[in-house]
Amino acid sequence: MICIFCAIVARDAESSIVYEDDAVLAFMDIRPITRGHLLVIPKRHAEGLAELDPADGGAMYRAARTIGAALRTTSDVDGINLLQADGADAGQEVFHAHLHVIPRRRGDGIGLSGASPTMPPRAVLDDAAAAVRALL
Ligand SMILES: [Zn+2]
Repeated sequence: MICIFCAIVARDAESSIVYEDDAVLAFMDIRPITRGHLLVIPKRHAEGLAELDPADGGAMYRAARTIGAALRTTSDVDGINLLQADGADAGQEVFHAHLHVIPRRRGDGIGLSGASPTMPPRAVLDDAAAAVRALL
């Protein structure tokens, strides 16, 4: 099966391009959550975080930072969310790594549905930190 994002990189599928350099391509999301919602992808195919070349990840973030900071200079944008979904259970729909750049406006009411922050005791946070450190 052909990867739609690889097809966009190859110009075999249409997109509305915002930015391009040697490592990344940025284009408008065809199903925007907010006006101006765009994606930054590595040109080299990588399904998700585990396969993503760290240099490509850095290039993705660098481009998202530049684009997001530029959007913030306009009076139309009050904030930016950067979001990468890794895995279907996290909401990933296209399995070519991508970083969402989501312009926010005051009062737009967008949020992580179902998110309910908790306040665990320090010991629980320390145990969680140790578990992640053990994976690194
Ligand atoms: Zn791809």
